[in-house]
Amino acid sequence: MQNNLSLGNSVLYSVLIALFTTTLTFGQNLNTDGHFDPKGKEPSEFTVAKWEELKNTMPFEDKQDFEEQKKGFIAAPEYREIMADAGHVAWNMGKYDFLLKGKDFQSINPSLQRQAILNMNYGLYEVIPGIYQVRGFDLANITFIKSNTGWIVFDPLTAEETSRAALELINEQLGERPVVAVVYSHSHGDHWGGVRGVVDEEDVKSGKVKIVAPEGFMKHAISEMVHAGNAMNRRMFLQYGVLLPASPYGHVDQSIGKNTAAGNLGLIAPNILIKEDIEELSIDGVKMIFQNVPDTEAPVEMNTYFPDMKAFWASENITGTIHNIYTLRGAMVRDALNWSKQINMALHLFGQEAEVMFASHSWPRWGNERIQKVMKGQRDTYANLNNGVLHLVNQGVTINEIQNEYKVPESLQNEWYVRSYHGDVKNNSRGVVNRYLGHWDGNPANLIPLSPYESAPLYVEMMGGSASILKKGQELYNKGKYLYTIEILNKLVYGEPGNQDAKDLLADSYEQMGYQQESPSVRNAFLAGAFELRNGVPEGEIPNTNSPDLVKAMTTGLWLDFLGIRLDSKKAAGMEFTINLITPDNGEKYLVELSNATLSNIEGFQDGNADLTITINRSDLDLVMMGVKTLDEMISSGVAKTEGDTGIIEKLKSTLVQFDVRFEILPGTIPVEKQQYNKNPFQQEMPAVIGAD
Ligand SMILES: [Zn+2]
Repeated sequence: MQNNLSLGNSVLYSVLIALFTTTLTFGQNLNTDGHFDPKGKEPSEFTVAKWEELKNTMPFEDKQDFEEQKKGFIAAPEYREIMADAGHVAWNMGKYDFLLKGKDFQSINPSLQRQAILNMNYGLYEVIPGIYQVRGFDLANITFIKSNTGWIVFDPLTAEETSRAALELINEQLGERPVVAVVYSHSHGDHWGGVRGVVDEEDVKSGKVKIVAPEGFMKHAISEMVHAGNAMNRRMFLQYGVLLPASPYGHVDQSIGKNTAAGNLGLIAPNILIKEDIEELSIDGVKMIFQNVPDTEAPVEMNTYFPDMKAFWASENITGTIHNIYTLRGAMVRDALNWSKQINMALHLFGQEAEVMFASHSWPRWGNERIQKVMKGQRDTYANLNNGVLHLVNQGVTINEIQNEYKVPESLQNEWYVRSYHGDVKNNSRGVVNRYLGHWDGNPANLIPLSPYESAPLYVEMMGGSASILKKGQELYNKGKYLYTIEILNKLVYGEPGNQDAKDLLADSYEQMGYQQESPSVRNAFLAGAFELRNGVPEGEIPNTNSPDLVKAMTTGLWLDFLGIRLDSKKAAGMEFTINLITPDNGEKYLVELSNATLSNIEGFQDGNADLTITINRSDLDLVMMGVKTLDEMISSGVAKTEGDTGIIEKLKSTLVQFDVRFEILPGTIPVEKQQYNKNPFQQEMPAVIGAD
């Protein structure tokens, strides 16, 4: 595994989560009486006081969301678990049933608990006659539009198993109809990964079934997940709380649904692309007006209006939350102003007459007045985030201060439809600064900062050593000043990664902060941090899971780029070679060059004096990319033809690192000898597996 040419576990985070969670120490179905972690603490008096305050000041008497959430309910299945074809549980709604017992949990921010209950909708719902949704089968909703002869499916979920179950449910309840078309609203995996559960690829190839997507869909469906894929997978542990059991003390919600299903992720390429800003298309008697809205919630995305039904599909641009401008798992910062402008366009094109607005997450809104109010509120919240942050930035507020300075306008603060569940407003505001100005705050002290491991020992010494820091930290903790405890204990754990008392006190502070958060992403990050500090990062099976569909959809250039990222420059020092790579079945040619310890590639060019020429069909290269076969096997069996010095392949492989998702984030949570890369200069003598320096 160490040095083949495969993609490793870079692409498929939802499956990764599934397999990792099966190896956990803690069970998934817990009773709700106690904390799942023996070291876990109850909410403190300060956390409870904050809870009481929110409970008394936010408009909990406004129940409109609850009426909308249950409206049109048709039926729920008997089961609350959906099994994956591989045998594990792909989806478990039942583990969140503690939320439905009418109890208030002081370990959950009351606003978040409200959202977590709203996301407990489960089963088949009628939006209006002819439009139906199955909710609570996956992170997203799956939507069915009744056409003349069948169903048009909008956004077939993350997993084949969950989308298949949804199709079975609607066919059982409303009569069996064939799927005549699928629409992928955007490039995120929770909106297309389950496509094989609702259609057969042969029917798409023959044109019998249409798959509609915005232009650029295939490129963006894959590319966002590859270059920094391993780091994103690791950070999913934080944002999605992969190691946290469902519990009032653990995972309770994910803002736009309960969590991601863990089944077979597949991808079938669209056969109709929407290219114009506004484009009309009728399929099987259903008239649809598509509004392309690139660079909003996703790099490519489209809303849809059904003029004959006065129904507006808001894709994922308007859901029951303000969304991520900056997502904690890591992604390019999104454009809040463009997002706002596209909502405004939809408001003026369709929102003037729409009688229902429905989306790929959350629940619909009915009545034109309500729709316009929600659209305007969302439009203004995104615009204000962008403009309000830059308003302060232009007066000197920096990326390190904006989270404590920027405030959502008061008139929007008490509107449930614009609360910051998914996109935490503090991190969104930092994201806006990052988008425009980057990470540097303008202070030279932050131009070349010492790494935390380097600076911490000096802090610990100057603060009088660990006993003094622990004493002060405990004092601050006892007063409920958790961010201050975190500030100084963070230095101590970097200075003394083996100091478990320090890690435990830091964990306790993280935990109280987690309980207090409205945004589940931020809650999960704090609670996951507490978990890792207390228990270390558990060892578990790390599967090599690259879906064949996704690898097929990846361009050869993207794979070559990723080899360039896997290359350890120190190992490649002094090497120089060129490779012509020819894939006859798709007619592509690449020139790959190693020079200056850097691997580059260019499509459409060849070197007349290449050191090595490899000719292999792209369909065979897929197996190498997936790690199913090695390139050597392909050459010795004659599937790949070579000309020149094949020793170059060995040389290239010897420079490559296979990334391990279990890397250290918090000090002392992974034994040094198990770390791929040792960041701690004070433990240099300890052996590291690969590439330590
Ligand atoms: Zn989504």
